[in-house]
Amino acid sequence: MRKLMCGAASFLLAAGGFAQSKPAPPPTPDHHERKAEDIFTVKPLGGSVYALFGRGGNIGFFVGPDAVVVVDSQFKDIAPGIVQQIRAVTDKPIKYLVNTHHHGDHVGGNEVFREFAVIIAQDNVRKRMLASPQDILRDYPARLEEAKKKGDAAGAKYYAEQIEWAGKVKVEEIAAPVLTFDSQLRIHVGGETIGVWHTPPAHTDGDSVVYFEKANVLHMGDVFFNQVVPFIDIEGGGSVLGYLSAIDAVIARVPGNVTIIPGHGEVTDVAGLKAFRQYIADILSSARAAKVAGKSKDEFLRTVDLPAYKGYRGYDTRFKDNAAAAYDEAPAK
Ligand SMILES: [Zn+2]
Repeated sequence: MRKLMCGAASFLLAAGGFAQSKPAPPPTPDHHERKAEDIFTVKPLGGSVYALFGRGGNIGFFVGPDAVVVVDSQFKDIAPGIVQQIRAVTDKPIKYLVNTHHHGDHVGGNEVFREFAVIIAQDNVRKRMLASPQDILRDYPARLEEAKKKGDAAGAKYYAEQIEWAGKVKVEEIAAPVLTFDSQLRIHVGGETIGVWHTPPAHTDGDSVVYFEKANVLHMGDVFFNQVVPFIDIEGGGSVLGYLSAIDAVIARVPGNVTIIPGHGEVTDVAGLKAFRQYIADILSSARAAKVAGKSKDEFLRTVDLPAYKGYRGYDTRFKDNAAAAYDEAPAK
């Protein structure tokens, strides 16, 4: 089975649309894929900020005196369950939803949230979501044929459903962000200030991280996969080198004792983030060494291995894709 989102998932399909331009490799099991009746975990992080794990990209939410602010919405089919989980913590109205980027496992629930919340994201998130039907109609017929040829029934079903969705959806029906920004904005709720900062292109070209100042909690979206090999959406404007710039820019803006919610993986701290940064730096320096030694991309991909990271989820499936992208971007001297 192929997956079209970015971190976890056995979903395929859920919300329709907003697939990444290139299917990522098959998922590996993790805590995001528990049984339907038991998929959610809510973890209080202090300062009225909570992490909510379900299926797809991790959610963060802040409970203010008169409003709740939510970061990311996972999938449409589980969005009512997400709302229920928040309701179990507070009856304050959910007024704002921030999308960290456009991937389906982070925006799929937007259709449910837009009934009551203002959806906010960087300009490119809206652009990419609205362009999604035409991207699917352009790219997926060939992938559907390929899947059929390979006998990949689940993949074929997914592509067929996406093509059907893209053929009939009206652009105005897409639950894209309605409040967009270029570089950053702040949301003020009660005594809390929530900074939403666009980073240099890393996972996509619409990445934002969300910083809850008073609570000192940072939600990094997929600019950070904790102990998980990332999906780097090059076709979606992402960049391996950009991951380093994005992480460095974020670290420079937050206190050293910040609590961090990654897009995928467990809640951690700056040390956890730096370990992930080291993974990116290591794959880039392997690629650079190969280029300096005159190795072709194929030669490099045949032999590249970073044993220190074998314990990362997704090493078997996504590592070579990361290596290929690193080779393309690494300097040759
Ligand atoms: Zn993603």
